[in-house]
Amino acid sequence: MQLKYDVIIVGSGLAGIWTALNLDKKLKVLVLTKSKVWGCNSFYAQGGVTVAKDEKDIPFHIEDTMIAGSYHNDKKMVELLSQKSLSVIDDIEKLGFRFDRDEKGNILFTREGAHSKNRIVHAGGDATGREIHKFVFNKDKSFFIDEAVVFDLLIEDNKCYGVSVLQNNKKMNIYANSVVIASGGVGGLYKFDTNANTISGDMQGLCTLKNIKLKDMEMTQFHPTVYVQMKTAQKLLLSESLRGEGAKVVDQNKKRFLFDYDERGELASRDIVSRAIYDYKQRGNEVFLDFSEWNEKFLAKRFPTIYYKLRDLGYNIPNDLVPISPAFHYMMGGIEVEENSKIKNFKNLYAVGEVACTGIHGANRLASNSLLECFVFGKICAEDINKNISEIDKRFKINEEILKKENDKFYKNQLREIMWKNVGIIRDEKNLLKALNFVEKTIPKLGRITKLRFLTAKEIIKSALNRKESLGAHYRKD
Ligand SMILES: Cc1cc2nc3c(=O)[nH]c(=O)nc-3n(C[C@H](O)[C@H](O)[C@H](O)COP(=O)(O)OP(=O)(O)OC[C@H]3O[C@@H](n4cnc5c(N)ncnc54)[C@H](O)[C@@H]3O)c2cc1C
Repeated sequence: MQLKYDVIIVGSGLAGIWTALNLDKKLKVLVLTKSKVWGCNSFYAQGGVTVAKDEKDIPFHIEDTMIAGSYHNDKKMVELLSQKSLSVIDDIEKLGFRFDRDEKGNILFTREGAHSKNRIVHAGGDATGREIHKFVFNKDKSFFIDEAVVFDLLIEDNKCYGVSVLQNNKKMNIYANSVVIASGGVGGLYKFDTNANTISGDMQGLCTLKNIKLKDMEMTQFHPTVYVQMKTAQKLLLSESLRGEGAKVVDQNKKRFLFDYDERGELASRDIVSRAIYDYKQRGNEVFLDFSEWNEKFLAKRFPTIYYKLRDLGYNIPNDLVPISPAFHYMMGGIEVEENSKIKNFKNLYAVGEVACTGIHGANRLASNSLLECFVFGKICAEDINKNISEIDKRFKINEEILKKENDKFYKNQLREIMWKNVGIIRDEKNLLKALNFVEKTIPKLGRITKLRFLTAKEIIKSALNRKESLGAHYRKD
């Protein structure tokens, strides 16, 4: 393997691979990924990609995004996102991809919670992420190394010279002129989560060791409709577009109780629906998703992934009610970046996708704006690298810290419990302090790789403590 590349990209999700695809073909690019290529949230995305339908829709898309984000969003970045969304369909379809269409060949647009219009494009019915991810990965010609965990960034004087990687139990340094962090969110920190099991916030924690600023870390999104009664760590998401297209949230008496919480009922934004379901369950009720609006044929065609998964789990869909719970889903906060995806104060270090905080999501992400973010900011990042890349060279000693310790797994599981109970959907100071105390006490006992996720958890807790008022997805009951 070569030791020096033009660009190293950490992460093989849509953000990483779309960045790679938009880089100058002359550049020697290496994509590193922690597990297998499909071990990423992009692969599991169901509902689709938001795009402004035309110039006239832009102000509405911006407004929907800002309302969902409780106006905590960076408006300039939201404008940029919406404007650039106009070319996303073309950008990928000109490479040969096809979004779902009707019999006449018109692209089908669906709708999800808190969108004022049908403006979400999808593929393979409810397998949008899988279809896109498979397609872009096959197109990309970068060098690729899987099962490679990045555990250090080689930084001196605000320049990043490369990364340290653990592969096959061997540590090595790999160097580059530019480094892109595209390592996704933090799902693995929570007991109930919808994320791929590679997603555990390692790189955000690493950033705290390197004085790289994280922003809005208290803004964690919980998805309202998740089937959590399965053994795997990753729980089954029941896409928001189910509710957008007519599935109902009901209790044991088939009452649509969400209207008692918000006049938009099933179509209120995610934080509102999640809290309502959480609260209703705490009062001793059971909560279900009701598919009886549709016939079986429609479900199997429009939502094949969900339909067959639920059938496999023993549910007679659409007749049976399916029990649901909220679960951790998406991280709005992350590494603070500038308009060109560059990390503040660095010349050659970038962050894109869920790991970055561009400010577009504010306090709560509007459904299906995240794949859009990967497309828009992946391209922006690549264009900036194409323009500004220059040769740098420096060698670093291998980091000697112990990477894994015997009890790491035990502590990881404890962390997942505590984050769910104390730093979850409804928060207060007492429980946050308990969580902080546990995290601080445990960090010295951990191997470096697990320590990184604890450092990310610590940032979430500290930010949640600092924001004393409720805002968007961050809800303080005290
Ligand atoms: C079940 C589910 C459904 C969703 N549905 C939608 C939807 O319909 N529409 C939408 O817009 N969004 C959806 N989302 C959100 C969206 O999928 C993600 O926000 C988006 O895919 C993030 O892409 P990414 O490339 O930033 O990260 P990911 O796709 O998560 O990729 C991160 C990559 O980084 C790698 N990595 C992490 N740490 C390291 C490390 N230390 N070393 C090396 N590699 C590392 C991982 O292995 C992975 O390859 C959904 C999410 C989930 C979980």
